[in-house]
Amino acid sequence: MIPGVFDYHRPASLSDAIGLLSRLDSDARVIAGGHSLIPMMKLRLASPSHLVDLAAIAELKGARVEAGEVVIGAMVTQHEAIGSELLAAHAPILRETAAVISDPQVRYMGTIGGNVANGDPGNDMPAVMMALGASYVLRGQGGERRVAARDYYQGAYTTAALPGEILTAIRFPAPPAGHGYAYEKLKRKVGDYATAAAAAILTVSGGRIATCSIGLTNVAETALFADAAARAVVGGALDKASLARASAAAEAIADPAADGRGSAEYRKKMAGVMTARALSRAFARATA
Ligand SMILES: Cc1cc2nc3c(=O)[nH]c(=O)nc-3n(C[C@H](O)[C@H](O)[C@H](O)COP(=O)(O)OP(=O)(O)OC[C@H]3O[C@@H](n4cnc5c(N)ncnc54)[C@H](O)[C@@H]3O)c2cc1C
Repeated sequence: MIPGVFDYHRPASLSDAIGLLSRLDSDARVIAGGHSLIPMMKLRLASPSHLVDLAAIAELKGARVEAGEVVIGAMVTQHEAIGSELLAAHAPILRETAAVISDPQVRYMGTIGGNVANGDPGNDMPAVMMALGASYVLRGQGGERRVAARDYYQGAYTTAALPGEILTAIRFPAPPAGHGYAYEKLKRKVGDYATAAAAAILTVSGGRIATCSIGLTNVAETALFADAAARAVVGGALDKASLARASAAAEAIADPAADGRGSAEYRKKMAGVMTARALSRAFARATA
């Protein structure tokens, strides 16, 4: 399949990219790793007249810790996230999640920024960012603003980003040392999107879960913040009863469509199963 005709731009700075987007047609799109956008262009599900490539913009690269917050540049690739000692030290769930995205070829090109900006409910990072309490930094002609990951997704491929805004970075408070984490992804084969997946981040104090947050992947039109599922386990040790409550709460908000990965009922059930598995593994890590 061949994409439609487009003009290609490769700005060297963020301000040049924002200027370009404000001057070009409204159907200009930024391109990061291209591993969601190019397939959509080949299928003619997207036909941008201009592509603004972010690859040469140094300001969008690298990860750092700044005033207790982890800051990940939008153009950090999934491969770089796996190899980053800084991210492994502060938020190891990112390495675990990036490692189950597709295959090395996709991960070499696909970026963390593109994965969260895309708005595909099958993308794995949005649920993780919801669990981490992350914010997305958006910059456009009107200046810079932050939008919580939990508020960013409005529907499949519909987000809170305004036309002409570029997602420049992802920021979240570094989880405390010794926190528990897990990303559980059910997929049919290596390289597949999730049938259902769950991210869990928790802390344990005196054998009881003190804080917990959970995000779900690919069981609704957007990633889901599973607040009730997390609340079901806070305050006690993790046991059969609290796991069952959390699973039921995750299933209750899941609203998947039937697809090649299974019926809606099956995928809904798997949202609960992945939640229980993620909680169990996160709790074991926090209490090891
Ligand atoms: C075979 C295959 C299997 C895959 N399997 C998985 C999987 O299992 N899990 C998963 O999560 N993903 C999967 N992906 C998708 C892959 O992870 C993509 O790379 C990712 O979703 C998008 O990142 P990108 O950098 O390639 O973005 P692009 O494809 O370049 O862009 C995607 C969209 O986001 C916008 N965008 C990108 N960056 C920015 C930014 N900084 N600011 C504003 N808008 C931006 C673009 O305009 C476009 O609309 C798969 C892809 C392929 C080809």
